Amino acid sequence: MSTQFDVIVIGAGPAGYVAAIRAAQLGLSSACVDDFIGKDGKPALGGTCLNVGCIPSKALLESTKQFHALTHSFKDHGITASEPAIDVPVMIGRKDKIVKQLTGGIATLFKANKVKSYAGRGKLLAGKQVEVTALDGTVEIISARHVILAAGSIPIQIPGIPFDGTHVVDNVGALNISAVPKRFGVIGAGVIGLEMGSVWKRIGSEVTILEALPDFLGLVDADISRVAAREYKKQGLDIKLGCKVTAAVVVGDEVQISYTDASGAAQQLLVDTLLVSVGRRAHTKGLLADDSGVDLNARGQIEVDAHNRTSAADVWAIGDCVRGPMLAHKGSEEGIAVAELIAGKAGHVNLDTIPWVIYTEPEIAWVGKTEQECKDAGIPVKTGSFPFAAIGRAMAMNEAYGQVKVIAHAETDRVLGVHMMEFQASSEDLARICHAHPTLSEAIHEAALGVDKRAIHRAN
Ligand code: FAD
Ligand code: NAD
Repeated sequence: MSTQFDVIVIGAGPAGYVAAIRAAQLGLSSACVDDFIGKDGKPALGGTCLNVGCIPSKALLESTKQFHALTHSFKDHGITASEPAIDVPVMIGRKDKIVKQLTGGIATLFKANKVKSYAGRGKLLAGKQVEVTALDGTVEIISARHVILAAGSIPIQIPGIPFDGTHVVDNVGALNISAVPKRFGVIGAGVIGLEMGSVWKRIGSEVTILEALPDFLGLVDADISRVAAREYKKQGLDIKLGCKVTAAVVVGDEVQISYTDASGAAQQLLVDTLLVSVGRRAHTKGLLADDSGVDLNARGQIEVDAHNRTSAADVWAIGDCVRGPMLAHKGSEEGIAVAELIAGKAGHVNLDTIPWVIYTEPEIAWVGKTEQECKDAGIPVKTGSFPFAAIGRAMAMNEAYGQVKVIAHAETDRVLGVHMMEFQASSEDLARICHAHPTLSEAIHEAALGVDKRAIHRAN
């Protein structure tokens, strides 16, 4: 007889670990299988987000923001410091410590909530059975009434440009560089490219970013991306649009990148480290047995309905391995909703109200549709915007650039592009709002959940 649970979750990223904890809170016996190995060679919970994504990138953004302020804007405040220097191994060590503390915290939460943790690779078999291959190779079959797939995502590789972890890196490598590269190249001016490009630029690298598309940050409202492009340029990020990379070869200690620029002319770029950040894809390799009954869509994601049900009965999928934005808080919201549905409660995630934040300077944050998206969809809009240059707090912070823009329906006045709220909220209202991660406002979310003893990130 295999060990039987109410719920088995495969993947302990922010989608999976939250689903496992919420299921346990609701009185369901819950297990979570995860195969991530941390920098110290030991199993580490928390998935991409805690180990090699949101948290470590924000730790490095914070360290380098401090250094940049010290070397650039402290003098405006009348503060001088002699011989500012950055010790990269200390900066990376601080980041590693934060990661270890947080991933260890998930293990503690699992214990407190009685979530059974399996370190190993999970494969969904027919009949909601899960084959767990432990790190030492031993295989165990466990089964459940419901299985939640939360296997996350992995970086897309450009054919012919393999990651070597030293010169050509993905997010993992870019977060673990031991000395400031003189020349830091990036392929892909998306969220990772801009955040990691900012990290290394602030502490002295020459940063060149090659982007395939002719427009900059198409995801963002054009009024906002225009200002961002101007500010990034002032900071010295060299962003080249409309580039087609044809090859990148490691020769000795440098990477030689061949590309054609926007005019079609052949160009070469030489860098010490090349980050390839051209998007991520669902991590489904080895996850599903042939007869699992779970379908993938044309993009290789696990196909789900509006409530995260897959094509197999009582098998659900959440987070980066399904449609929707690849964001930690989106996955967590799906994890909570699915656990609540399994427990017979109501649960739903509105993908139109998931907030985005790009943690560069300036930070870019938005929720809802851009003006262009509204126009493309034939929605009549009216817009309002306000520059931070006219906000005293922004001036006091030396950050008087950029603007806030609100897009509303021209006839109904319904806010479509920014959801700012002023209302008599109940704690349930606050608990139901999807808060961006990592932000200080997550504490409001957790405190509101705590009102009913269902906070996720502390034992209730
Ligand atoms: P993951 O976090 O990828 O976790 C999946 C887990 O499942 C992993 O531990 C994986 O090893 C494990 N797994 C996979 N297959 C199996 C299997 N068969 N058996 C056992 N275990 C398995 N998002 C934000 O919201 N804010 C940010 O600031 C942010 N910054 C980011 C910075 C970087 C550099 C990167 C790369 C991503 C960032 N993201 C950010 C995105 C965020 O990390 C993801 O959206 C989030 O981690 C997805 O959560 P998940 O639980 O779906 O998957
Ligand atoms: P992305 O989708 O944000 O950006 C990829 C960029 O690469 C795009 O601009 C794309 O046009 C470009 N591109 C694609 N192929 C190319 C090629 N061959 N040559 C040149 N450019 C090419 O992807 P990402 O930066 O890898 O990040 C993946 C995801 O991780 C993000 O979309 C986001 O969901 C998540 N993430 C979120 C945060 C955050 O919330 N702050 C931070 C980092 C990552």
